[in-house]
Amino acid sequence: MASVGDGAQLTRPTLTVVALTALLAGVAGTAFVRDGAWDAVMPSPWWMPVAIVVCFALTERFSFSFEYRREAISFTMSEVPMVLALVYLGPATAVIARTVVGVAMVLRSRRTPLLKVSFNAALFAFETAFAFAVCSWVIDRVGMSDPTLLVAVAASATITTVLGAVAVHLAIAAFEGGLLRRMAAELPISIATGTLGALVAVGCVAPAFIRAEFVLFSALPVVAVWTVLVRHGRLAQRHRDLESMHGFAGAIGRSLDIDDLADVTLAQVRFLVRSERATLIVYERSGVAGLVWTDGPGGLRAGGTDDLERWTPLRSIAGAQWVTVHDDGRVEPAAHAETDTAAVPLCDANGPLGLLVVSGRLGGPPGFEPDDVDRLSMIASQLESQLANAVAHARMEFAASHDDLTGEWNRAAFDRLVTDALVTPSSGGVRAAMMIDLDKFKEVNDTLGHHIGDVVLKEFAARIRRLLTPEDVFARFGGDEFALYVERTDPLEIRRLGERILGESYTAIGIEGLDVVVTSSIGIAAARGDDRDAAALLRRADIAMYTAKQQHAGCESYSEGIDRRTPERLTLLGDLRQALDRGLLVVHYQPKVDLVSSAVVGVEALVRWQHETRGWVPPEDFIPLAEESGLIRMLTDQVLGSALAELRRWHDDGFDLTVAVNLSTLDLLDELLVDRIARHLEMTGLRPENLVLEITESSLMVETPRVMATIQQLDRLGVGLSLDDFGTGFSSLSYLRRLPVTELKIDRSFVGNLLLDPQDEVIVKSTIDLGHNLNLRVVAEGIENGPIFERLRLLGCDLGQGYGISRPLPADLLSRWLVGCEFATSERVRAMPGIVETSA
Ligand code: C2E
Ligand code: CA
Ligand code: CA
Repeated sequence: MASVGDGAQLTRPTLTVVALTALLAGVAGTAFVRDGAWDAVMPSPWWMPVAIVVCFALTERFSFSFEYRREAISFTMSEVPMVLALVYLGPATAVIARTVVGVAMVLRSRRTPLLKVSFNAALFAFETAFAFAVCSWVIDRVGMSDPTLLVAVAASATITTVLGAVAVHLAIAAFEGGLLRRMAAELPISIATGTLGALVAVGCVAPAFIRAEFVLFSALPVVAVWTVLVRHGRLAQRHRDLESMHGFAGAIGRSLDIDDLADVTLAQVRFLVRSERATLIVYERSGVAGLVWTDGPGGLRAGGTDDLERWTPLRSIAGAQWVTVHDDGRVEPAAHAETDTAAVPLCDANGPLGLLVVSGRLGGPPGFEPDDVDRLSMIASQLESQLANAVAHARMEFAASHDDLTGEWNRAAFDRLVTDALVTPSSGGVRAAMMIDLDKFKEVNDTLGHHIGDVVLKEFAARIRRLLTPEDVFARFGGDEFALYVERTDPLEIRRLGERILGESYTAIGIEGLDVVVTSSIGIAAARGDDRDAAALLRRADIAMYTAKQQHAGCESYSEGIDRRTPERLTLLGDLRQALDRGLLVVHYQPKVDLVSSAVVGVEALVRWQHETRGWVPPEDFIPLAEESGLIRMLTDQVLGSALAELRRWHDDGFDLTVAVNLSTLDLLDELLVDRIARHLEMTGLRPENLVLEITESSLMVETPRVMATIQQLDRLGVGLSLDDFGTGFSSLSYLRRLPVTELKIDRSFVGNLLLDPQDEVIVKSTIDLGHNLNLRVVAEGIENGPIFERLRLLGCDLGQGYGISRPLPADLLSRWLVGCEFATSERVRAMPGIVETSA
């Protein structure tokens, strides 16, 4: 008996089968209303009805089914008890006996749907009633005798078997379609098996016509024929299995593409194991994302990671396994009673590779049988090596187009994808490329080690990835350089995306107890109509990124203006190198005064560069250049040399001053810095406490062992340490307490607005309090007028410097200023703009 789909809802197929069931039951009902509904043709001994019932049960139990062209053909010897029933039972009795036994056998398997049970019941009843109708029709025509009875039962058994097969095909076709194809393929087989069964049956009952007990002799030939058939069927099946396996290996042997392979495999598996659905799961392997394909009603479907996760619980199974797929998607090994879904693992030399899963046995008895599972395992073993090859191939392709570290695209793939995108017509939105570059990433690598550097890059890439859509093209170009290609409806959205990426980089990355903050610079360039490949677009994004970096602007969009500046930058770098070589940089000095006594206590050394053609170049323009190119160490060394030599002279002239020299982060990473400072001090004969080193907050953002070591060494040397630009960086109180600094310099941006912005006043006041609590000297820079000076003095600030007191001056001018000042600092301060007015 072929199975019928188990749709529970009232779909069209379901309604068709319900109608068919009603029709069959209606025909069967006629058996009860005919004349002699309860009368048998021949008198029956008492045991005969019992024997018939037992026979029906046995033939159902030992039905044998095999596959033939995807269809399950099942043999039963039900013709034997049917023929006996035709002779020894009345039609009504026979219908009841056959139906009850049949239904009981169907119900043996749990979970048989109601529709299927009722259809099968109606079919059993119909077959029996119809057989009786044919039989009595024949006898009515040719008259009743032993030979005619034999002919009549043979004919009716055959016709009924064939009609029953037709009904089953109709029902299956209601769900699966293909009625004609199915009929054409199977009816000849049904006719052949039906006739054979009927002939065997007639041979069995014939002796009973002599004496009813002789029917027992017929058991022997039935069992014999049955055994031969089954043996033959099994052999033929095995033969066919081998053939199909061979065909399977051939079919999958052609493709290295993992999608093609999945496609072909699943179609073959569904065919060979007769499953409604087949699923192939490939676990994640380095470089190859895990994948799930399912083939079944509705076609082939590729799944996402969620689909993969549900199968992961089966990752460790070693052999074929029954599984249960719960409604909520959970999957787990099932009890052996549930045989509707079977899974076999796929492995290769490196361990589990994936799973092959079939569910929903089509045709034949419900659930998969051990034979099916054997076949599935055979398929799996055929598939394994090919699948391993496809995975290796996928991994190779992945490696060729992806960055090892982050798993994002690499440069070659990015160029190709973006070029493709540029030549396909836009959907009307704005297309843009972004270059994203981490600031000072080299320092992270140098000081914390590559291992930490890698973690930072990975985390940064992952954060960016979370802000993107699947259509965006994101790549790492190597080092700390990333590129992004996006299409959005509005340029503002792109800008906002840039800002969000920037924001991500400002958020500390926690690694091994360290909080690493690595800022980034982003350049954005919009694609133009004439951009034919990625190169031109990327070049503009690159220029915008350089500008962003140079100006500490974070995120910068490309414009013609900034393009013109870039070649300039390279020339400037060349000029700077020369200027350093030829000692053309000079140092100016800005005095620091005590806000209470107005006495000059020190000077800050500020580097100056007079360019041959450009005139004065502001330090903001060339210090970043020097930092990026590594020239900064040489620069610092020259400034230190000049500043200490000058200080020596001032000391000789009787001015007891300190000199402050600015250090850049790279200086703090320089292992030789401390030695060089010590040497300069020694050469000039100055005491260490005459020297103050200014370090910016932001240079301490990565709290690295090397920077810390340098700072400790400087402290031990005895030089003063000043925390510059305080308030603009990321200082946390905890490290302020740990750093051996002696001075805080409030950034001039707060000081300039002190009298205008109450917020700034709060910041300045609390910085002063904080500094004093930590026993630090507090310096305000950028004092431009008297009222600010006055306010700072009232707020308790210790020292001050600014244009209002004096601009940075060349050494000789400062010497003269100092001389004038010696006698009249307080007068000078009082003469500052603003003070005059207030005190007048
Ligand atoms: P900085 O360390 O914060 O230096 C103070 C800056 O404020 C100097 O600018 C100074 O001229 C300016 N300044 C002083 N008083 C006032 C004022 O009243 N109002 C305003 N608006 N500005 C005032 P400068 O010399 O242009 O230097 C800029 C930056 O370049 C410095 O900021 C420092 O970060 C860097 N720099 C200068 N010389 C060196 C150096 O020798 N080595 C290193 N590594 N960096 C240096
Ligand atoms: Ca400074
Ligand atoms: Ca400063």
